Amino acid sequence: MNQQEYIESAVASFRTLLEEQLSRVAAMEEAQGLSGKQKECIRIGIVEGDGIGPIIVSAAEEILQVLLKEELDEGKVSLEKIGGLTIENRLATGQTLPKDTLEAIKKCDVFLKGPTTTPKGGTVESANVALRRALDLYANVRPVAIPEKGIDWTFFRENTEGEYVLGSRGIEIPGKLAMDFKVTTKPGTERIARAAFEFAKKNGKKNVAIVTKANIMKKTDGNFSAICHEIAAEYPDITVEDWYIDIMTANLVNEKIAGHFEVFLLPNLYGDILTDEAAQLQGGVGTAGSANTGDRYAMFEAVHGSAPRMIEEGLGDYASPESILRATVMMLSHVGLQEKADRLAAALDALRARGDVVVDGTPENATCRDFTAALIGALA
Ligand code: NAD
Repeated sequence: MNQQEYIESAVASFRTLLEEQLSRVAAMEEAQGLSGKQKECIRIGIVEGDGIGPIIVSAAEEILQVLLKEELDEGKVSLEKIGGLTIENRLATGQTLPKDTLEAIKKCDVFLKGPTTTPKGGTVESANVALRRALDLYANVRPVAIPEKGIDWTFFRENTEGEYVLGSRGIEIPGKLAMDFKVTTKPGTERIARAAFEFAKKNGKKNVAIVTKANIMKKTDGNFSAICHEIAAEYPDITVEDWYIDIMTANLVNEKIAGHFEVFLLPNLYGDILTDEAAQLQGGVGTAGSANTGDRYAMFEAVHGSAPRMIEEGLGDYASPESILRATVMMLSHVGLQEKADRLAAALDALRARGDVVVDGTPENATCRDFTAALIGALA
Protein backbone atom coordinates (compact mmCIF):
# COMPACT_ATOMS: atom_id res chain seq x y z
CA MET A 1 0.00 0.00 0.00
CA ASN A 2 1.18 3.53 -0.63
CA GLN A 3 0.83 6.29 1.99
CA GLN A 4 -2.52 7.53 0.67
CA GLU A 5 -3.97 4.00 0.73
CA TYR A 6 -2.75 3.54 4.34
CA ILE A 7 -4.49 6.78 5.34
CA GLU A 8 -7.72 5.79 3.64
CA SER A 9 -7.70 2.34 5.18
CA ALA A 10 -6.99 3.88 8.65
CA VAL A 11 -9.81 6.41 8.26
CA ALA A 12 -12.20 3.59 7.30
CA SER A 13 -11.21 1.50 10.36
CA PHE A 14 -11.50 4.56 12.57
CA ARG A 15 -15.09 5.07 11.39
CA THR A 16 -15.86 1.42 12.30
CA LEU A 17 -14.25 1.88 15.74
CA LEU A 18 -16.34 4.98 16.43
CA GLU A 19 -19.55 3.23 15.35
CA GLU A 20 -18.78 0.19 17.52
CA GLN A 21 -17.93 2.31 20.55
CA LEU A 22 -21.09 4.41 20.17
CA SER A 23 -23.23 1.24 20.15
CA ARG A 24 -21.42 0.15 23.31
CA VAL A 25 -22.30 3.51 24.89
CA ALA A 26 -25.95 3.04 23.83
CA ALA A 27 -26.03 -0.46 25.39
CA MET A 28 -24.60 0.90 28.67
CA GLU A 29 -27.12 3.75 28.74
CA GLU A 30 -29.93 1.24 28.23
CA ALA A 31 -28.66 -1.00 31.03
CA GLN A 32 -28.50 1.88 33.53
CA GLY A 33 -31.20 1.77 36.13
CA LEU A 34 -31.72 -2.01 36.03
CA SER A 35 -31.50 -3.26 39.58
CA GLY A 36 -30.99 -6.74 40.99
CA LYS A 37 -33.61 -8.46 43.06
CA GLN A 38 -33.12 -10.07 46.46
CA LYS A 39 -32.21 -13.76 46.15
CA GLU A 40 -33.61 -16.60 48.23
CA CYS A 41 -30.53 -18.70 47.54
CA ILE A 42 -27.14 -17.20 46.71
CA ARG A 43 -25.52 -19.31 43.99
CA ILE A 44 -21.73 -19.31 44.21
CA GLY A 45 -19.86 -20.77 41.23
CA ILE A 46 -16.50 -22.44 41.79
CA VAL A 47 -14.14 -22.43 38.80
CA GLU A 48 -10.80 -24.20 39.29
CA GLY A 49 -8.70 -22.80 36.44
CA ASP A 50 -5.22 -24.05 35.52
CA GLY A 51 -1.88 -24.91 37.13
CA ILE A 52 -2.08 -24.33 40.89
CA GLY A 53 -5.73 -23.19 40.43
CA PRO A 54 -7.39 -26.52 41.42
CA ILE A 55 -5.17 -26.75 44.54
CA ILE A 56 -5.90 -23.27 45.92
CA VAL A 57 -9.55 -23.27 44.83
CA SER A 58 -10.19 -26.58 46.58
CA ALA A 59 -8.70 -25.04 49.76
CA ALA A 60 -11.10 -22.09 49.42
CA GLU A 61 -14.02 -24.45 48.80
CA GLU A 62 -13.16 -26.43 51.94
CA ILE A 63 -13.11 -23.20 53.96
CA LEU A 64 -16.49 -22.14 52.50
CA GLN A 65 -17.98 -25.53 53.46
CA VAL A 66 -16.91 -24.93 57.07
CA LEU A 67 -17.78 -21.23 57.22
CA LEU A 68 -21.16 -21.50 55.49
CA LYS A 69 -22.25 -24.88 56.91
CA GLU A 70 -25.53 -23.55 58.26
CA GLU A 71 -26.42 -21.53 55.12
CA LEU A 72 -25.58 -24.53 52.90
CA ASP A 73 -27.68 -26.89 55.05
CA GLU A 74 -30.61 -24.46 54.99
CA GLY A 75 -30.37 -23.93 51.22
CA LYS A 76 -29.61 -20.23 51.59
CA VAL A 77 -26.33 -20.64 49.71
CA SER A 78 -25.26 -23.20 47.11
CA LEU A 79 -21.75 -23.95 45.87
CA GLU A 80 -21.71 -25.00 42.21
CA LYS A 81 -18.63 -26.54 40.60
CA ILE A 82 -18.19 -25.28 37.04
CA GLY A 83 -15.82 -27.18 34.75
CA GLY A 84 -14.35 -26.47 31.37
CA LEU A 85 -12.32 -23.33 32.02
CA THR A 86 -9.05 -25.18 31.55
CA ILE A 87 -6.36 -24.46 29.01
CA GLU A 88 -6.71 -28.01 27.63
CA ASN A 89 -10.44 -27.60 26.95
CA ARG A 90 -10.06 -24.06 25.65
CA LEU A 91 -7.36 -25.13 23.18
CA ALA A 92 -9.27 -28.28 22.16
CA THR A 93 -12.49 -26.37 21.49
CA GLY A 94 -10.72 -23.27 20.13
CA GLN A 95 -12.93 -21.15 22.42
CA THR A 96 -11.44 -18.58 24.79
CA LEU A 97 -14.56 -18.96 26.90
CA PRO A 98 -16.26 -22.34 26.27
CA LYS A 99 -19.99 -21.77 25.72
CA ASP A 100 -21.17 -24.32 28.36
CA THR A 101 -18.86 -22.81 30.97
CA LEU A 102 -20.13 -19.29 30.32
CA GLU A 103 -23.75 -20.48 30.52
CA ALA A 104 -23.07 -22.21 33.85
CA ILE A 105 -21.33 -19.08 35.20
CA LYS A 106 -24.32 -16.96 34.16
CA LYS A 107 -26.61 -19.14 36.27
CA CYS A 108 -24.65 -18.11 39.37
CA ASP A 109 -24.76 -14.78 41.20
CA VAL A 110 -21.05 -14.65 41.90
CA PHE A 111 -18.10 -16.96 41.25
CA LEU A 112 -14.70 -17.72 42.67
CA LYS A 113 -12.15 -18.28 39.92
CA GLY A 114 -8.76 -19.96 40.00
CA PRO A 115 -6.05 -18.44 37.78
CA THR A 116 -6.18 -19.37 34.11
CA THR A 117 -3.27 -19.77 31.73
CA THR A 118 -3.12 -17.52 28.66
CA PRO A 119 -1.24 -19.26 25.85
CA LYS A 120 1.34 -17.29 23.91
CA GLY A 121 0.21 -16.82 20.30
CA GLY A 122 -2.74 -18.69 18.77
CA THR A 123 -6.34 -17.52 18.81
CA VAL A 124 -7.27 -18.39 22.41
CA GLU A 125 -7.17 -15.11 24.33
CA SER A 126 -7.07 -14.29 28.03
CA ALA A 127 -10.07 -15.88 29.79
CA ASN A 128 -10.15 -12.95 32.19
CA VAL A 129 -10.43 -10.30 29.52
CA ALA A 130 -13.17 -12.39 27.84
CA LEU A 131 -15.06 -12.87 31.15
CA ARG A 132 -14.91 -9.17 31.96
CA ARG A 133 -16.31 -8.41 28.53
CA ALA A 134 -18.97 -11.19 28.47
CA LEU A 135 -20.25 -10.39 31.97
CA ASP A 136 -19.61 -6.64 31.79
CA LEU A 137 -17.50 -6.67 34.95
CA TYR A 138 -16.60 -3.00 34.87
CA ALA A 139 -15.17 -2.47 38.35
CA ASN A 140 -11.92 -4.03 39.47
CA VAL A 141 -11.83 -3.60 43.24
CA ARG A 142 -8.74 -4.28 45.30
CA PRO A 143 -8.34 -3.55 48.98
CA VAL A 144 -4.86 -3.07 50.45
CA ALA A 145 -4.28 -2.75 54.19
CA ILE A 146 -1.03 -2.15 56.07
CA PRO A 147 -2.35 -1.48 59.59
CA GLU A 148 1.06 -0.77 61.14
CA LYS A 149 1.48 2.15 58.70
CA GLY A 150 -2.10 3.37 59.07
CA ILE A 151 -2.90 2.34 55.49
CA ASP A 152 -6.38 1.13 54.49
CA TRP A 153 -6.83 1.68 50.76
CA THR A 154 -9.48 0.50 48.31
CA PHE A 155 -8.83 0.83 44.59
CA PHE A 156 -11.62 1.14 42.04
CA ARG A 157 -10.08 0.51 38.64
CA GLU A 158 -12.26 0.94 35.55
CA ASN A 159 -12.07 -2.47 33.92
CA THR A 160 -13.55 -2.28 30.43
CA GLU A 161 -12.34 0.90 28.71
CA GLY A 162 -9.25 3.09 28.47
CA GLU A 163 -6.31 1.59 26.59
CA TYR A 164 -7.70 -1.96 26.81
CA VAL A 165 -10.96 -1.79 24.88
CA LEU A 166 -9.22 -1.27 21.52
CA GLY A 167 -5.86 -2.73 22.54
CA SER A 168 -5.48 -4.88 19.43
CA ARG A 169 -7.17 -2.42 17.04
CA GLY A 170 -4.47 0.21 16.58
CA ILE A 171 -3.11 1.53 13.30
CA GLU A 172 0.34 0.89 11.91
CA ILE A 173 2.14 2.21 8.85
CA PRO A 174 5.15 -0.13 8.89
CA GLY A 175 8.48 1.60 9.28
CA LYS A 176 6.77 4.96 9.82
CA LEU A 177 4.32 5.11 12.71
CA ALA A 178 2.00 3.23 15.06
CA MET A 179 -1.08 4.56 16.90
CA ASP A 180 -3.26 2.99 19.57
CA PHE A 181 -6.57 4.27 20.87
CA LYS A 182 -7.80 5.04 24.35
CA VAL A 183 -11.52 5.37 25.06
CA THR A 184 -13.42 7.11 27.87
CA THR A 185 -17.23 7.01 27.72
CA LYS A 186 -19.72 8.90 29.83
CA PRO A 187 -21.78 5.90 31.04
CA GLY A 188 -18.61 3.81 31.46
CA THR A 189 -17.08 6.45 33.73
CA GLU A 190 -20.29 7.23 35.59
CA ARG A 191 -20.78 3.62 36.67
CA ILE A 192 -17.25 3.13 38.04
CA ALA A 193 -17.40 6.51 39.79
CA ARG A 194 -20.75 5.64 41.35
CA ALA A 195 -19.36 2.26 42.51
CA ALA A 196 -16.43 4.03 44.22
CA PHE A 197 -18.56 6.72 45.89
CA GLU A 198 -21.22 4.23 47.00
CA PHE A 199 -18.48 2.09 48.55
CA ALA A 200 -17.06 5.17 50.30
CA LYS A 201 -20.48 6.15 51.62
CA LYS A 202 -21.35 2.66 52.88
CA ASN A 203 -17.97 2.18 54.54
CA GLY A 204 -17.62 5.58 56.18
CA LYS A 205 -14.73 6.68 53.96
CA LYS A 206 -14.33 10.42 53.64
CA ASN A 207 -11.82 10.77 50.82
CA VAL A 208 -11.85 9.71 47.16
CA ALA A 209 -8.76 10.40 45.03
CA ILE A 210 -9.28 10.56 41.25
CA VAL A 211 -6.02 9.59 39.55
CA THR A 212 -5.40 10.57 35.90
CA LYS A 213 -2.94 12.34 33.63
CA ALA A 214 -5.55 14.87 32.55
CA ASN A 215 -2.95 17.56 31.93
CA ILE A 216 -1.60 15.47 29.01
CA MET A 217 -4.44 13.13 27.96
CA LYS A 218 -6.85 16.04 27.84
CA LYS A 219 -9.80 14.35 26.15
CA THR A 220 -9.92 10.89 27.72
CA ASP A 221 -8.49 11.60 31.19
CA GLY A 222 -9.96 15.11 31.17
CA ASN A 223 -13.44 13.67 30.67
CA PHE A 224 -12.83 10.86 33.15
CA SER A 225 -12.02 13.41 35.85
CA ALA A 226 -14.88 15.77 34.90
CA ILE A 227 -17.48 12.95 34.90
CA CYS A 228 -16.19 11.65 38.27
CA HIS A 229 -16.68 15.18 39.67
CA GLU A 230 -20.27 15.23 38.39
CA ILE A 231 -20.97 12.00 40.28
CA ALA A 232 -19.05 13.33 43.33
CA ALA A 233 -21.54 16.21 43.55
CA GLU A 234 -24.15 13.62 44.64
CA TYR A 235 -21.95 12.79 47.68
CA PRO A 236 -21.36 16.13 49.40
CA ASP A 237 -19.98 14.51 52.58
CA ILE A 238 -17.05 12.97 50.73
CA THR A 239 -13.96 15.00 49.85
CA VAL A 240 -12.70 14.58 46.29
CA GLU A 241 -9.11 15.14 45.24
CA ASP A 242 -7.50 15.15 41.78
CA TRP A 243 -4.04 13.64 41.47
CA TYR A 244 -1.76 12.86 38.54
CA ILE A 245 -0.62 9.26 38.18
CA ASP A 246 3.10 10.11 38.35
CA ILE A 247 2.96 11.83 41.74
CA MET A 248 0.45 9.28 43.05
CA THR A 249 2.92 6.49 42.26
CA ALA A 250 5.38 8.34 44.51
CA ASN A 251 2.74 9.10 47.17
CA LEU A 252 2.10 5.39 47.79
CA VAL A 253 5.68 4.98 49.01
CA ASN A 254 5.76 8.30 50.86
CA GLU A 255 4.96 7.46 54.49
CA LYS A 256 4.14 11.09 55.24
CA ILE A 257 1.11 11.08 52.97
CA ALA A 258 0.23 7.43 52.16
CA GLY A 259 -2.10 7.03 55.17
CA HIS A 260 -4.16 10.03 54.08
CA PHE A 261 -5.74 8.19 51.12
CA GLU A 262 -8.81 5.97 51.41
CA VAL A 263 -10.49 5.29 48.06
CA PHE A 264 -8.81 5.56 44.65
CA LEU A 265 -10.76 5.99 41.44
CA LEU A 266 -8.75 5.27 38.29
CA PRO A 267 -8.96 4.60 34.57
CA ASN A 268 -7.92 1.12 33.44
CA LEU A 269 -4.16 1.32 32.79
CA TYR A 270 -3.24 3.50 35.78
CA GLY A 271 -5.35 1.19 37.95
CA ASP A 272 -3.54 -1.85 36.59
CA ILE A 273 -0.15 -0.42 37.54
CA LEU A 274 -0.99 1.26 40.83
CA THR A 275 -2.81 -1.77 42.29
CA ASP A 276 0.24 -3.99 41.77
CA GLU A 277 2.46 -1.38 43.43
CA ALA A 278 0.04 -1.21 46.36
CA ALA A 279 -0.19 -5.01 46.69
CA GLN A 280 3.61 -5.23 46.73
CA LEU A 281 3.73 -2.69 49.58
CA GLN A 282 1.29 -4.88 51.51
CA GLY A 283 3.61 -7.87 51.28
CA GLY A 284 3.43 -9.11 47.69
CA VAL A 285 0.74 -9.73 45.11
CA GLY A 286 -0.04 -13.07 46.81
CA THR A 287 -1.44 -11.26 49.84
CA ALA A 288 -4.19 -9.42 47.97
CA GLY A 289 -7.53 -10.56 46.56
CA SER A 290 -9.29 -9.05 43.60
CA ALA A 291 -12.94 -8.52 42.68
CA ASN A 292 -14.33 -7.86 39.23
CA THR A 293 -17.88 -6.66 39.61
CA GLY A 294 -20.69 -5.50 37.35
CA ASP A 295 -24.37 -4.76 37.86
CA ARG A 296 -25.43 -8.40 37.45
CA TYR A 297 -22.38 -10.66 37.93
CA ALA A 298 -19.21 -10.63 40.02
CA MET A 299 -15.99 -12.63 39.81
CA PHE A 300 -13.49 -13.04 42.66
CA GLU A 301 -9.96 -14.28 42.19
CA ALA A 302 -6.37 -14.34 43.35
CA VAL A 303 -4.09 -11.62 42.05
CA HIS A 304 -1.38 -14.05 40.89
CA GLY A 305 -1.39 -16.39 37.89
CA SER A 306 -1.52 -20.17 37.42
CA ALA A 307 2.21 -20.66 38.20
CA PRO A 308 2.65 -23.53 35.68
CA ARG A 309 6.33 -23.88 36.60
CA MET A 310 5.41 -24.82 40.17
CA ILE A 311 3.34 -27.70 38.78
CA GLU A 312 6.13 -28.80 36.37
CA GLU A 313 8.59 -28.83 39.27
CA GLY A 314 6.21 -30.82 41.50
CA LEU A 315 5.75 -27.88 43.91
CA GLY A 316 1.98 -27.44 43.44
CA ASP A 317 1.23 -28.57 47.01
CA TYR A 318 3.26 -25.61 48.28
CA ALA A 319 1.06 -23.03 46.52
CA SER A 320 -0.31 -20.43 48.91
CA PRO A 321 -4.12 -20.13 49.03
CA GLU A 322 -3.96 -16.76 50.83
CA SER A 323 -4.70 -14.56 47.82
CA ILE A 324 -7.76 -16.57 46.76
CA LEU A 325 -8.93 -16.63 50.39
CA ARG A 326 -8.65 -12.83 50.53
CA ALA A 327 -10.80 -12.81 47.38
CA THR A 328 -13.24 -15.13 49.18
CA VAL A 329 -13.53 -12.53 51.96
CA MET A 330 -14.48 -9.94 49.33
CA MET A 331 -17.01 -12.32 47.78
CA LEU A 332 -18.73 -13.02 51.11
CA SER A 333 -18.96 -9.30 51.77
CA HIS A 334 -20.31 -8.65 48.25
CA VAL A 335 -23.20 -11.12 48.69
CA GLY A 336 -24.10 -9.59 52.07
CA LEU A 337 -22.57 -12.27 54.32
CA GLN A 338 -20.53 -9.62 56.13
CA GLU A 339 -20.23 -11.45 59.44
CA LYS A 340 -18.75 -14.51 57.64
CA ALA A 341 -16.42 -12.22 55.65
CA ASP A 342 -15.20 -10.58 58.88
CA ARG A 343 -14.67 -13.99 60.52
CA LEU A 344 -12.57 -15.26 57.63
CA ALA A 345 -10.56 -12.02 57.42
CA ALA A 346 -9.88 -12.12 61.17
CA ALA A 347 -8.73 -15.77 60.97
CA LEU A 348 -6.40 -14.96 58.04
CA ASP A 349 -4.97 -11.96 59.91
CA ALA A 350 -4.50 -14.05 63.05
CA LEU A 351 -2.68 -16.76 61.11
CA ARG A 352 -0.42 -14.19 59.47
CA ALA A 353 0.32 -12.55 62.83
CA ARG A 354 1.16 -15.93 64.41
CA GLY A 355 3.65 -16.59 61.60
CA ASP A 356 4.00 -20.33 62.32
CA VAL A 357 2.33 -21.58 59.10
CA VAL A 358 4.02 -19.84 56.20
CA VAL A 359 3.37 -21.00 52.62
CA ASP A 360 5.78 -19.47 50.13
CA GLY A 361 5.94 -21.99 47.30
CA THR A 362 9.02 -23.80 48.64
CA PRO A 363 9.24 -27.27 50.27
CA GLU A 364 11.14 -25.69 53.19
CA ASN A 365 7.87 -24.23 54.38
CA ALA A 366 4.26 -25.32 54.87
CA THR A 367 1.86 -26.74 52.26
CA CYS A 368 -1.47 -25.45 51.09
CA ARG A 369 -3.08 -28.28 53.09
CA ASP A 370 -1.22 -27.27 56.31
CA PHE A 371 -2.43 -23.71 55.84
CA THR A 372 -6.04 -24.79 55.26
CA ALA A 373 -6.02 -27.02 58.34
CA ALA A 374 -4.53 -24.22 60.48
CA LEU A 375 -7.12 -21.78 59.14
CA ILE A 376 -9.98 -24.14 59.99
CA GLY A 377 -8.48 -24.27 63.50
CA ALA A 378 -8.36 -20.45 63.64
CA LEU A 379 -12.00 -20.26 62.51
CA ALA A 380 -13.22 -22.58 65.26
P1 NAD B 1 2.33 -16.35 38.18
O1 NAD B 1 1.72 -15.42 39.18
O2 NAD B 1 1.51 -17.50 37.75
O3 NAD B 1 3.66 -16.96 38.76
C1 NAD B 1 4.85 -16.24 39.04
C2 NAD B 1 5.58 -16.90 40.19
O4 NAD B 1 4.99 -16.47 41.41
C3 NAD B 1 5.48 -18.43 40.22
O5 NAD B 1 6.45 -19.08 39.52
C4 NAD B 1 5.61 -18.72 41.69
O6 NAD B 1 6.97 -18.74 42.05
C5 NAD B 1 4.97 -17.53 42.36
N1 NAD B 1 3.57 -17.76 42.77
C6 NAD B 1 2.45 -17.38 42.11
N2 NAD B 1 1.36 -17.73 42.81
C7 NAD B 1 1.80 -18.35 43.92
C8 NAD B 1 1.14 -18.95 45.03
N3 NAD B 1 -0.19 -18.97 45.18
N4 NAD B 1 1.90 -19.53 45.99
C9 NAD B 1 3.24 -19.51 45.89
N5 NAD B 1 3.92 -18.97 44.88
C10 NAD B 1 3.21 -18.38 43.90
O7 NAD B 1 2.78 -15.46 36.93
P2 NAD B 1 3.23 -15.86 35.46
O8 NAD B 1 4.24 -16.96 35.55
O9 NAD B 1 3.60 -14.59 34.84
O10 NAD B 1 1.94 -16.40 34.73
C11 NAD B 1 1.61 -17.78 34.57
C12 NAD B 1 0.30 -17.91 33.82
O11 NAD B 1 -0.75 -17.32 34.60
C13 NAD B 1 0.28 -17.17 32.48
O12 NAD B 1 -0.34 -18.00 31.52
C14 NAD B 1 -0.55 -15.93 32.74
O13 NAD B 1 -1.21 -15.49 31.59
C15 NAD B 1 -1.52 -16.45 33.78
N6 NAD B 1 -2.11 -15.38 34.64
C16 NAD B 1 -3.42 -15.52 34.96
C17 NAD B 1 -4.01 -14.60 35.81
C18 NAD B 1 -5.46 -14.78 36.14
O14 NAD B 1 -6.08 -15.77 35.78
N7 NAD B 1 -6.05 -13.85 36.87
C19 NAD B 1 -3.27 -13.54 36.35
C20 NAD B 1 -1.91 -13.44 36.02
C21 NAD B 1 -1.34 -14.38 35.17
